[in-house]
Amino acid sequence: MTDAPPAAGHGLAIGVDVGGTKVAAGVVDRHGRILGSARRPTPGHEPALVADTIAEVVGELRAAHAVGLEAPIGIGAAGWLDRRGARVMFAPNLAGWRDEPLRDIISARLGRPVVVDNDANTMAWAEYRFGAGRGCAELVCVTVGTGIGSGLVLDGKVRHGAFGVGAEYGHMQVVPAGLPCGCGSQGCWEQYASGRALVRAAREAASGSPQAGRRLAGLAGGDLATLTGPDVTTAAREGDPAAVKCFEEVGYWLGQGLASLAAVLDPAKFVIGGGVSDAGELLLGPARAQFHAALPGRGHRPEAEIVLAELGPDAGFVGAADLARAGILGRA
Ligand SMILES: [Zn+2]
Repeated sequence: MTDAPPAAGHGLAIGVDVGGTKVAAGVVDRHGRILGSARRPTPGHEPALVADTIAEVVGELRAAHAVGLEAPIGIGAAGWLDRRGARVMFAPNLAGWRDEPLRDIISARLGRPVVVDNDANTMAWAEYRFGAGRGCAELVCVTVGTGIGSGLVLDGKVRHGAFGVGAEYGHMQVVPAGLPCGCGSQGCWEQYASGRALVRAAREAASGSPQAGRRLAGLAGGDLATLTGPDVTTAAREGDPAAVKCFEEVGYWLGQGLASLAAVLDPAKFVIGGGVSDAGELLLGPARAQFHAALPGRGHRPEAEIVLAELGPDAGFVGAADLARAGILGRA
């Protein structure tokens, strides 16, 4: 075994992660190592402009790295794909994508077949192959960002359900008639266990008690409307009690949802990523406690591990590249 870089073009693939705010892409080798990357802001929500941007970043990577025109190309897209991975049926954060034939449009632009999957699925795949889920054939990956992204690996395969839109756990209802959600439903998990929920809790805490919320208000420059998730993380890391309490609340809901998922799926591991997980144990501690408290049959069954993701924000394109390299469509 050697860690020397592979010969030019050998075993390399290009992955592209298309999110609501940015398009990130990279050249990835068969060990999941990133040899080069490129980024652009997502250019509005017009599908043709998004396609232009995808073609641009792939062109840039092809030119800068000896990947060759034959290198497989995988795309992780922030949308709900049909079972063949051909059409984006719906994308809560990319309003232009409604029944959009993304795969064939990009394939025609690049002159090669491309593999498309949901971005949370490509992240789950990356963590399974190269990250915190290595060697664990039954895992659930939960990305706690603004909302919740999630992916399921069972028997070493990404699972999509019958119609392609399975494993959207962020839209599992945890509070009947609860907060409205972008998916059209109410009380979804992502309304309670996400960055959005964290910031909402922090704003409520700070406006309810200016004394207790002094540090949070200070980080927001005195205007709570501009408070961000990373601000709350900063305050919590400093030990600010109001911010720590916000993480306890979001962690509680995270653990509550994971316990429900354990009842349905019985995975060996939950891998938790996304920006909110940068807070580490401030989030995972309360999540583990509530997971244990809410797990059906607790004390009489093995408990899944709840661990932090290892690959960071590049996991989306690393997994997309690897799925494409393996020629794994994963879809019927
Ligand atoms: Zn929802």
